[in-house]
Amino acid sequence: MIRTRFAPSPTGLLHVGNVRTGLFAWLFARNLGGSYLIRIEDTDQERSERQFEDQIYEDLRWLGLDWDEGPDIGGAFEPYRQSERREIYRTHAEHLIEKGHAYWCFCSEQELDQAAEAARQSGEFWKYPGTCRDLSKSDIQKRFAANDPAVVRLRVRSGVIRFRDIVHGDMEFASDVISDPILLRSDGWPTYNYAVVVDDAMMKITHVIRGDDHLSNTPKQVLIYEALDMPLPEFAHLSTILGPDHTRLSKRHGATAVSQFREAGYLPEAMMNYISLLGWSPVSEGSEILPGDELIRQFRLDRVNKSPAVFDTHKLNFINRHYLKTSPAAGELVSRELQRSDWMPQAEGDSWMAMVMDTVVPTVDKVSEIPDRLTQMLEFSLEDSSDIQDTLGDSGAIEMLRQFLAELDSRDQLTTAQFREIAGKLKESSKRKGKQLFHPVRAALTMKSSGPELDKLIPLIETAAKYDLHHVARCRDRVRDFLVRYG
Ligand code: GLU
Repeated sequence: MIRTRFAPSPTGLLHVGNVRTGLFAWLFARNLGGSYLIRIEDTDQERSERQFEDQIYEDLRWLGLDWDEGPDIGGAFEPYRQSERREIYRTHAEHLIEKGHAYWCFCSEQELDQAAEAARQSGEFWKYPGTCRDLSKSDIQKRFAANDPAVVRLRVRSGVIRFRDIVHGDMEFASDVISDPILLRSDGWPTYNYAVVVDDAMMKITHVIRGDDHLSNTPKQVLIYEALDMPLPEFAHLSTILGPDHTRLSKRHGATAVSQFREAGYLPEAMMNYISLLGWSPVSEGSEILPGDELIRQFRLDRVNKSPAVFDTHKLNFINRHYLKTSPAAGELVSRELQRSDWMPQAEGDSWMAMVMDTVVPTVDKVSEIPDRLTQMLEFSLEDSSDIQDTLGDSGAIEMLRQFLAELDSRDQLTTAQFREIAGKLKESSKRKGKQLFHPVRAALTMKSSGPELDKLIPLIETAAKYDLHHVARCRDRVRDFLVRYG
């Protein structure tokens, strides 16, 4: 039975890099019908916060991930929060000491830091010299009686450390350069390397999928598995994600937290689709539009790339534009954005939404751009532009616009059908057609030389004006003002 886990530390917002790890572990488990669990690694007491943990669940759910076991839902291997497993880490550490694989160490951190610093300055290699490796039982008793702080260290064995990584291949490390790692600190809290191994072993994780910043920790973890006499899982270390300038993706590159993308109006389907392409490629050539079920179907760890992936906002936007057109969730998101920005009329909401979905949404990368796009499409300001002068180059245009205004004045709200009818009349009486006809009309209605089709734009203008959304002016007022200015 395949079992994978996502083991975030709740010390901040969930970022693209972290969530990619969680997503790959999920896709892998779901592809093979395995189990996926969440484990919260909150051993850093100072930086861990429950609010971040809650945010992690929210972000994962938003993206469409589900889990079979976790702190919030329990499971056969609970607890799933490391801070609640301290007893387990202590018991295992005691066994390791009994078996001689680990030992109490009383060296003070300060002493060791000084020694390490001195070695660094003289350019020498330094590792923990093993001072406490062979303390006698009575020495240990004495130090405890004197209340000397003690850590538990693993006795690193000699010889080569080997493990296989699905992404990086066979790995080999010399153990003689590795300091005996601390398993338990003097305050009783476990170190990352120790807790992660105890948990992965006990939770029967078959595939450890995580960022390659942990590749260098893995030899130590392998030694801990050996000492615990537990079988090694398979490892898959995922490459780093870089920004467009090929430096590690960070805040400098803009939004990196999942919640920021959500707030910016990206759809969860688009995020899942895009993030899965960061360092993985589908078997199917061609389209990179792959909804969740297709990602699950195609996901294989052996198609994960070991070179760094570059975060490409243009590609994310491209994918998001696709899902804005197809996702059932898009309408609701758009509607919420319209409400939020006061771009939703008090009545006729359905037809307004249909128009926005048809005319405005296809022009944006993400939902949060809709209010600005509406403003841009529907605003009307009589500022001179050379385009307008060009459009009005011949006097016939003004004459035609006067007739247009007369038609508008005899109507209340202009509909698309009426506009088509009026355009037919103007064509006949002015003998103008195509650009000659429609450019002056567009100029008088929008003061712009391009934009959405007038057929689609006019009902948007008229509805917005009827409900006084953002003070949009109606068509006839626009044409009148225009003629006062240019007529
Ligand atoms: N808590 C660790 C991290 O967020 C997990 C690493 C691992 O998966 O082993 O980096």
